[in-house]
Parts: sequence; C-alpha cells; structure tokens
Amino acid sequence: MRLEKCFFCSATIYPGHGVQFVRNDCKIFRFCRSKCYKAFNKKRNPRKTKWTKAFRKAAGKELTVDPAFEFEKRRFEPVKYDRALWQNTVQAMKRIEEIRVKRQNQFILNRLKKGKELRKEAGILDVEKNIHLVKLPAARAAKLEQKLVEVITEEEDHEQMDN
Ligand SMILES: [Zn+2]
Repeated sequence: MRLEKCFFCSATIYPGHGVQFVRNDCKIFRFCRSKCYKAFNKKRNPRKTKWTKAFRKAAGKELTVDPAFEFEKRRFEPVKYDRALWQNTVQAMKRIEEIRVKRQNQFILNRLKKGKELRKEAGILDVEKNIHLVKLPAARAAKLEQKLVEVITEEEDHEQMDN
C-alpha cells in the first residue's frame, strides 16, 4: 500500500482517493480531493493559501526541522519482505508517528505560550504608556491634601495674627 502526499495541501492520499494529473512532461501531480485539484487548476500558490501545509510551514506555524521527519522519508526505500522485520517496522513506524505528533503538539503549545508572553508584554507597555490615566486620581488627592495643608496653615497664621 503506497501512501502519497497531496501536491497542494500535503495531506496523505490513501489508495482509491483523490485525482492524479499527468502533465505533458510526465510530471505527476496527485491531489487528495477536488478542492486541491481545483485550486491547482486555478494556479493558486500553496504557500499563499492558508489551509495548506506549505503555508503553515512557511509561516512558522508548524514544526519544520525535526529528526522524526527523516524516518518518514526512509520508509519509502524498497525492502525485501520479511515477516518479523515487517512487524518491527510497523511498530517502529507507529512509535515514530507518536513521537512526531507529540513534538508537533509541544511546538504548537510553545508557539501559543510565546503569544501569551507577547500579549503580557504588550499589556505592560500599554499600562506604562497610559499610566497618567491611572495616576490622575492619586495626583488629585495629593494636590487636594496640599491645598488643605495650605488652608490650615493660613488659618493658623490668621489665628496667630489675631492673638
Ligand atoms: Zn489536498
């Protein structure tokens, strides 16, 4: 069973699914569904189309460099069939997939965490910039206090003068 990747969105194409287009120079383009085939026919650029893997990788939204991807490439090397070896390979493939998914999720979590930090920083900057809006009542209170002190001292002065 050979699993192909969609030329447009990089989704896995299982046997019996999708369309295959052979250009007149013998280059084969495989598509997972009509959505991708139509987008290709409209000469859309997968790197500029938000829902494709190519866009997500180019925009730094997904893990791009990871040793787990190297194993995936090696899977396409033809090997002589051997039952024990095949079972081992299947198990290894499953494990590699698990690790890959885990790392991918971690990457996404880290990315979200970064966004949270950035938002926090932006919030702090915002507060610092507009601190006068917060400080105003306190400043007013201080001014009022000073005024009161002045009035009281003036009254005291008057009393002293009266005496
Ligand atoms: Zn596709």
